Amino acid sequence: MIYFDHNATTPVDERVVEAMLPYLKTFYGNPSSLYRAGRIVRSAIDTAREQVAALVGVTPAQIIFTSGGTEANNLALRALSTGSKIAVSAIEHPSVIEPALKNGHNEGVSISVDENGLISPYALEKVVQSSNSPALISVMLANNENGVIQDIAGIASFLKGKRISLHTDAVQAVGKIPVSFSQLGVDLMSLSSHKIYGPKGCGALVMGKGIDIEPMLVGGGQERGWRAGTENVAGIVGFGKAAELALQELEQRTDHMLTLRNKLELGLKEIIGSVIFSEQVERLPNTVFIGLQGVDGEMLLMQLDQKNIAVSSGSACASAGGKSSPVLAAMGVDQQLAKSAIRVSLGKDNTESEVDEFNEVLKSIINNL
Ligand code: PLP
Repeated sequence: MIYFDHNATTPVDERVVEAMLPYLKTFYGNPSSLYRAGRIVRSAIDTAREQVAALVGVTPAQIIFTSGGTEANNLALRALSTGSKIAVSAIEHPSVIEPALKNGHNEGVSISVDENGLISPYALEKVVQSSNSPALISVMLANNENGVIQDIAGIASFLKGKRISLHTDAVQAVGKIPVSFSQLGVDLMSLSSHKIYGPKGCGALVMGKGIDIEPMLVGGGQERGWRAGTENVAGIVGFGKAAELALQELEQRTDHMLTLRNKLELGLKEIIGSVIFSEQVERLPNTVFIGLQGVDGEMLLMQLDQKNIAVSSGSACASAGGKSSPVLAAMGVDQQLAKSAIRVSLGKDNTESEVDEFNEVLKSIINNL
């Protein structure tokens, strides 16, 4: 199979599997137990915490392990008491949009994006300067569909001194571009293991100093009371190893994916009626979101699947609902073109010959339509 859907999930790196195995087979102690078998496991979690902290340049104490990006996002939006206003960008993942609207907050405010998918400074200013300005703003670092990278540091400096906390969902960004919590100037950041060749069901919320949140799970005291429940030890160990490798290999992975992406885009441009969304702005090196005039994206996806090529028609959630991408809708893309969209997201282990094959297969499918 040619797997081109790394923004949905990544295969677990063999080295990550190796790191996890002892914590499934041999070291089964509870990390809260005081005897030796527990202490061994506790120390493995401590190491993973250091590895994840290093990936985004924070201290280990700032990491709260969660069950993934979704939980980290939900938790981040509890960084202030319910009833306060939260503003989120129009292109956030549903795990940010839904809690912002539903979690007892009286008003969720959406910050619009321009035709390239970038937060419009005007829209941000309007939200901040309204009489009832938000207590928390959430803007993702990189979008899962079009790969657009937002100027989070710019937003943070605009918010400076305004008593508004800033959260960023960095789930798609880490492992693909350098990410520094302090350089971005955010207060909270969400991470997920399975987007960086780690296991599923594990992630983290990174907390800035002086930030307080209301836990969702209580009754065990783990993660210093922020997230109760016996830790997913093997998952956390795997996440730690994946983070370590992502940091070590970042440059090489990025260069490789960029080479593949350029090749892929050259091929796409030969197809009449093809559009690469957000092509003019800074994007993740692995992501290409394509529109193909007159084509049905879902049909195309299935035809590619028959040729053993896995791509996505946008975010998994939007695909499941049969609707076209809310991200493209927020960018003002015409419905018909939006329905033709497919997303190709490359990974570190993809090859040039896979890209060549994809381009050829795509062209032949389009020619036969
Ligand atoms: N945020 C973004 C931008 C994502 O792309 C995803 C996963 O698709 C998530 C959050 C959710 O992460 P998880 O699957 O670990 O819950």
